[in-house]
Amino acid sequence: MSVTLDAPSRPYRGRFAPSPTGLLHAGSLTTAVGSYLEAKRHGGEWWLRMEDLDPPREMAGAADAILRTLAALGFEWDGELVWQHARHERYRAALDQLLAQGHAYGCGCTRREIAEAGVRGADGMVYPGTCRNGVAAGRTARAWRLRVDDAPTCFVDRLQGPYCQRLQSEIGDVVLLRADGFWAYQLAVVVDDMAQGMTDIVRGADLLVSTPRQLWLRQCLGGAAVTHCHLPLMVNAAGEKLSKQTLAPAIDAASAAVELRRALTRLGHTPPPDAGSVAELWQWARAHWQLARVPAGPIVIA
Ligand code: GLU
Repeated sequence: MSVTLDAPSRPYRGRFAPSPTGLLHAGSLTTAVGSYLEAKRHGGEWWLRMEDLDPPREMAGAADAILRTLAALGFEWDGELVWQHARHERYRAALDQLLAQGHAYGCGCTRREIAEAGVRGADGMVYPGTCRNGVAAGRTARAWRLRVDDAPTCFVDRLQGPYCQRLQSEIGDVVLLRADGFWAYQLAVVVDDMAQGMTDIVRGADLLVSTPRQLWLRQCLGGAAVTHCHLPLMVNAAGEKLSKQTLAPAIDAASAAVELRRALTRLGHTPPPDAGSVAELWQWARAHWQLARVPAGPIVIA
């Protein structure tokens, strides 16, 4: 199966999809700003989706805090705010469809067994395909996986350029439903982007490595074409991605204009000094935004 990559012909619809595992920080804010301006530049819609599917990793109060911070920064979103925790039946229906079509299968392997197979790939250990033709006698399926192949799966990122992976040897068959019973991000994000009619996905470059498997899954589910644009990765002085784990400070909504100006500057757009308020900054940014000015990254934030 080859993945087709023609551009969507539908009107632009983009989104920001934070996971409430921590508060908004410089990296996630910059991604939100870029995806918002790219949508506005195309006269499109910009939706918000809370990706709260992984309770063990979530932080109490983070979802509401993210929404408050976005509102304080002047973001306005279209459509209804979607919460992934309320969409389990959609993920179940997608998995059932994939199973019925032979694209998915149950897997009885443990994490340790996969690690022992010892194949390191583009994003951690590669699943060696042990259960592709059925779970071994005496074992039961713990997780469900998507079958991939080894032809190059390629796309052209609007900022990062051409990107290809041989999914079977670089990633391995993709987990859809985890052994701990939670839906995998990879399944939920594709199901929701399809169900919500997203046409253009603008997000952080840490997800570039996930895009070929998402395109593959989208094709299996019969989804329409989408474009991708991966904004520069924000790293700290040690070169680590900004995140709660690397202790990135939370955005302070009380300094909304300062934070917005910083995010725009990181994206290659330096507002004039007289654009002082949040409203003036957005007005300037909407008039001047050009993806061509955005650096591919990574960007070091001291
Ligand atoms: N929820 C994901 C994250 O916060 C982003 C998903 C996406 O934009 O595709 O990293």
